[in-house]
Amino acid sequence: MTETEYSEQFKNDDVPKENKEKGLDDKYKDIDVDEIILTKKVGTDYSYKHKVVWKNVIGFFILYSLCIRGAFLALMGEIRLVTIVWTFFIGYITGIGITVGSHRLFAHRTFKATTFLKVILIILQTAAGQNGIYIWCRDHRLHHRYSDTDGDPHNSKRGYFFCHVGWLMHRKHPYVLKLGKRIDMSDLESDWMVMFQHKYYYVLYTIFAVVIPVFVPWYYWGESFKNSLLFCYFFRYITQLNVTWLVNSAAHLYGTRPYDKNMQPVDTWLVSVLTFGEGWHNYHHTFPWDYKAAELSDHINHSAILIEFFQRIGLAYDLKSASPDMVRRRIQKSGDGTHYDLGNEESKKAVSAIGPLHPLNPTYNVTYEPPNVLIKGEGLPLYHENDVMNANVVKRNAAKA
Ligand SMILES: [Zn+2]
Ligand SMILES: [Zn+2]
Repeated sequence: MTETEYSEQFKNDDVPKENKEKGLDDKYKDIDVDEIILTKKVGTDYSYKHKVVWKNVIGFFILYSLCIRGAFLALMGEIRLVTIVWTFFIGYITGIGITVGSHRLFAHRTFKATTFLKVILIILQTAAGQNGIYIWCRDHRLHHRYSDTDGDPHNSKRGYFFCHVGWLMHRKHPYVLKLGKRIDMSDLESDWMVMFQHKYYYVLYTIFAVVIPVFVPWYYWGESFKNSLLFCYFFRYITQLNVTWLVNSAAHLYGTRPYDKNMQPVDTWLVSVLTFGEGWHNYHHTFPWDYKAAELSDHINHSAILIEFFQRIGLAYDLKSASPDMVRRRIQKSGDGTHYDLGNEESKKAVSAIGPLHPLNPTYNVTYEPPNVLIKGEGLPLYHENDVMNANVVKRNAAKA
């Protein structure tokens, strides 16, 4: 995005309508946004209080109540086994829509997919109900670019509750709004399928996330409509959201940092089990462009195995991955000593004594300092600059500057 385009967009989009009407936007005109963003180190301002959005709090209260009601019915044996199996099946395939689709394909471009695979992943991603790909990826790219600072929509520095679900019940931090507009989304904007989903999201959401999952048990094996709705929609939706949110919360707080101890995200096997391999989060933030989102694809990483399978049957190609040598150098340079192969006994022992959750974990209390660099103004890269493997990405970003 060029300088003028950006200023125009900021002027048009960032000022609330009522401010425009009252002429209050004049005061924004003189602010050099780049100056603010370029020179200010983005960290966490603990004196800033996020405003609670009560509408969302009430919404979540209702959703959680219905989810608990669905779980209760299942525990009381009122929901047929086949409906429970169906619900977990839907939970599984839509989870793949998030991990393989939203995350590894669209947000990070870790591999390329044929049109057929893209269509399947977009449908599954829609059925998961976690916002369309465009919004999901913008938030996620922002999260990677400004991890654990006020520029991160779910800043883990604000505590477990905030980064798990609290962020969705609070007004966004001004940095999230401002910096979010600078994220490079050009690749998704030029993808008609992603933009089609963006445009018709609510219609598609109703069909794929609500109607089909609820209709099938009711129509095909006579589950009551109420049970089907409570279990296949509310229970599944809220449970799945919580599992996904663990990647933002637990995987930023409780675990080890074998690849880079200077960043907040951690590796945690438990989250990996629940999210098909998204819990190797210290690795993922170190090499976000790696399709495995972990060093190994054969260690609690079902999503990576699936991508490899898609490659074998010709649906996925150009898989990007960090070479073993690159990973080794990074571990030796910045790891916390807990790496399974290259770590040291002392650090590993401290972790294995009780498990990765315990406070004796040598890296548990490491505090994250945002990098002391100027944030460049050329739109934000999809990848961490240091680790870019694809020269075209460097060139593309340089051309924009
Ligand atoms: Zn993260
Ligand atoms: Zn990511």
